[in-house]
Amino acid sequence: MLSPRDLEKFSRKLGKMLGSGIPLVASLELLAREDADSEISKALEKVVSKLKEGYTFSSCLAMYPGIFTEVYVAMVKASELQGRLDHGMIEIADGCADGTIEPGNGSDEIDETVMSPDEENLKIIKMLNQIISDAVKEKMNRVVCKPERDHVKLLVASGNHLEHRETFDKGTYDRLTARVKLMSALDIGERQLPQDGRILVKVESEMVDIRVQLVPTVFGEQIMLFFSRPDEKMPALERIFTDKAQKEMFERLVQNQKSGLIVFAGPHGSGKTTTLDVATAQLNDGSRVIFEIGRIYKSPAGISCIQVRPHIGMTMVNSIRTAVRSEPEVMVIEDFCEEEVALECFKAANEGILVLTQMGARNTSEVFKQIFNLKVPPFLVYGGIAAVMFQVLARKLCPHCRKEVEFTTDDLFSMGLSDMKPGKYSDSCGCDKCNNSGYLGREAFYEIIVPDKNLKEAIIKGDNNEISLALESIQGTRLETRIRNYAENGHTSPREAARIRAILSLQAPV
Ligand SMILES: [Zn+2]
Repeated sequence: MLSPRDLEKFSRKLGKMLGSGIPLVASLELLAREDADSEISKALEKVVSKLKEGYTFSSCLAMYPGIFTEVYVAMVKASELQGRLDHGMIEIADGCADGTIEPGNGSDEIDETVMSPDEENLKIIKMLNQIISDAVKEKMNRVVCKPERDHVKLLVASGNHLEHRETFDKGTYDRLTARVKLMSALDIGERQLPQDGRILVKVESEMVDIRVQLVPTVFGEQIMLFFSRPDEKMPALERIFTDKAQKEMFERLVQNQKSGLIVFAGPHGSGKTTTLDVATAQLNDGSRVIFEIGRIYKSPAGISCIQVRPHIGMTMVNSIRTAVRSEPEVMVIEDFCEEEVALECFKAANEGILVLTQMGARNTSEVFKQIFNLKVPPFLVYGGIAAVMFQVLARKLCPHCRKEVEFTTDDLFSMGLSDMKPGKYSDSCGCDKCNNSGYLGREAFYEIIVPDKNLKEAIIKGDNNEISLALESIQGTRLETRIRNYAENGHTSPREAARIRAILSLQAPV
């Protein structure tokens, strides 16, 4: 027979674990392992499996009236509804200590009838499973639930275009949100702060990794699910780098660099994240401790991921500090746009850690401008920066609808391509095969900047003009010229070359 003291200890420990941010299922599994022979531990195994099916914690406990009385279960249920299970468990523990809550009569009866979930709950579980499996089968990469004044819209996207699928009433949506939070180990009670989590599920034998983002809006919490498939192979280096010299330079850079910061930069949609992933995969050969911070949705085997959870104090900055304390060889930082984050990254880079990060920028000198805008002291940039890898994507002409078009001096001049000779160039009009865009496939152009003496001197002065000049002398053939050659050789159209040049030459807002 269970003593009140045992019940108190269980409740208090669970409350403390939840309060420190350990998800419910993980907390219960740890508690069950701690004292495997106790009556509570024996019950916990089944409780955990039922929880994973989507039942609420209180209804799982109700299965064991011999341990958990009706009063106990009612109190758990109340704190679940308030979203403060951690506080609730501590209050229950206090109740056990002063004798207001007692353990059950000790019978080993299991009451499965309480487990027939209310219809509504089952409906929600089915609904979310359906949304996820539909999205996977249709190869969607994003699902967004957008709360509006009176209802919530479900939108799905395979590319950039969002398509409206369904509309929920607010009551159903609240329960759906709770279910998403439960599955992604997030705080069910938190509705005011953004939360990031993750769901790993198997849909028809395919592992799917779903990054979950909850963003509070005026009309309620917006759910965003981003799908990726960990089983999918990384794109091979050969496919990313068609230029052999660039591929070798990239490999040398990643393999030989022991410390310092490498920034993967490029305009929006330039594929810098893919390149960062490839670099991380190259480093992940089992010989290094690698921490990924804030990029939990990728997390390949061999890499330790730290989930950023600001609501329990694990901000980006704190996560980086935690990682640095365990002296890893490599840190991969999801994003770099806060002053404190940038500072911590450069400190770590100066302390012998190889730090990889990404940044949206329209050219290499803008990368340095942004670093200084984030108030990183020049001496830390000087000692910390190992390389900037800048990239841009050019669309390739569709081979099915390509044609030769005459471009006059005026045409080229008005497109900002006055350095191209007038004459016939390849262009396209669009067809069925290329979705009427005129382009099929893309080619990446890279610029790898490893600071030389000149650039380092300009950095320590913190002088943006001198940095731009020093960069020009390292760059060699400029990206603008390479893109022009690409159009001249008929791989892409002058229009595409002009579009990319415009992106590269745009100045960042000061
Ligand atoms: Zn075409």
